Amino acid sequence: MEDAVRSNMTEFWKEHSREATVQEMMLDSHAVELTQQELPEILSMLPSLTGCRVLELGAGIGRYTSHLLKQANHVTAVDFMESFVEKNKQDNGHHKNVTFVQADVTKLEFPPNSIDFIFSNWLLMYLSDKELKLLLTEMLRWLRPGGSLFFRESCNYRSGDCKREFNPTCYRTEAQYNHLITSVQMEDENERFGFDIVLRKRVRTYIEVKKNPNQICWLLEKVARSSDTKETFSNFQMFLDNKQYTRRGILRYEKMFGSGYVSTGGPNTTKEFVDLLNLQPGQKVLDVGCGIGGGDFYMAKTFGVEVLGMDLSENMVDIAMERALSEKLPSVEFEVADATKRTFPEGSFDVIYSRDTILHIADKLALFKCFHSWLKPGGQLLISDYCCGEKPWTPQFEAYVKQRGYILYTPSQYGKFIQDAGFCNVEANDRTAQFIQVIKEELQRADEIKSEFIEEFSEEDYSAIVNGWREKLERSKSGDQRWGLFHARRN
Ligand code: SAH
Repeated sequence: MEDAVRSNMTEFWKEHSREATVQEMMLDSHAVELTQQELPEILSMLPSLTGCRVLELGAGIGRYTSHLLKQANHVTAVDFMESFVEKNKQDNGHHKNVTFVQADVTKLEFPPNSIDFIFSNWLLMYLSDKELKLLLTEMLRWLRPGGSLFFRESCNYRSGDCKREFNPTCYRTEAQYNHLITSVQMEDENERFGFDIVLRKRVRTYIEVKKNPNQICWLLEKVARSSDTKETFSNFQMFLDNKQYTRRGILRYEKMFGSGYVSTGGPNTTKEFVDLLNLQPGQKVLDVGCGIGGGDFYMAKTFGVEVLGMDLSENMVDIAMERALSEKLPSVEFEVADATKRTFPEGSFDVIYSRDTILHIADKLALFKCFHSWLKPGGQLLISDYCCGEKPWTPQFEAYVKQRGYILYTPSQYGKFIQDAGFCNVEANDRTAQFIQVIKEELQRADEIKSEFIEEFSEEDYSAIVNGWREKLERSKSGDQRWGLFHARRN
């Protein structure tokens, strides 16, 4: 059966590789124009390939090969169609650092840990679930720990089996890909490995040119998985999505903070803090830990800025994208991304903005150094975040921090990290008094909308969240829990 599928696939591509042109390979008559616009977009999502051993799967006629080999130490470009490989050789064969392989990707072998980066564009959708699972497992073996895999696919919102007899494309939903990615594991003598998400993003060119939001890219990193069987979640993203930020949990938070917001003071503190930035039309803003996007819609609507909202939680980004449908603001974009792993070119943004998010991130100095490089000269950093008082802490606060997995510092230590990352004009404010005031107001409002809240959620949800807020108030009054506001500039 599997063999029959493979030979059908070969036949299909034999039919579509006679001329070895970009139109034919992409099965699209606008291929040339589309490629021109989307190629730089796709390349901008890749990590730096300097010094890397790159494997390109399903290289076709080499649209990407010619770019990958410019940066990489070496590229191995694989495709199973002879005429495609020949065309790629013609165009790129004069480079010394590329090897061409004509082979079916389901039948490849490479030594373990021999590859730094695997690239594929429109390949995995031509594999069955079984083939894909095997290939992903093999890729985990070929990649070195810390190495990464990029792929881009046409997705859809249908589920169910693909009808291979009629169409060789196995359109999966985004969720089906996500599920496959998280389920794949590989074990060597010492350790267990899996893929963590670095980035998942829609191809903007397709949204703009073809109104097609179903072209999706993933960037994954090979990481060691804890062999500790007590760990309930295989990675931090799963922890966020299944614990603090379940869909219901998020919507409950939103009811307390205000529509569109999952952080202290909702629209009020957002207005106050964003005003400090003096935003100008056309400026580029990165929102780190954007949640469900309320602040991003606000900034784009009020100041005409372009906003990229990134969040590691799938649930958050799903909701943000649902809201984006009715907001209809093409200047706001969302992506699932891990701020500690995602990279941007130097000087990409005018403003980096982050509200009550970095509490989840351990290495703040490393993160702030990245922020510094992603900002343009003169660019601004604006952060609000949970902080703490000097130790010793009350046992209640110790327990709370441990249960949430937060990593907290005093406002002045926090400001020092920003300073040490190279920022100037660093203002570090302890805003705990404002925090306490806001919590009181939010409790007051919860009381006013109690029946509406209970109708939308439940009695249990209401008392859980109100108790949570009361405990937060106590922790803040004791001086353990603090809130900081930070504003700084890149020279
Ligand atoms: N800033 C939003 C949401 C705050 S909740 C608002 O003000 O409404 C904190 C957010 O940080 C959550 O959405 C969480 O998923 C996100 N987050 C945590 N760790 C992250 C990481 N490493 N990279 C990106 N986002 C992260």
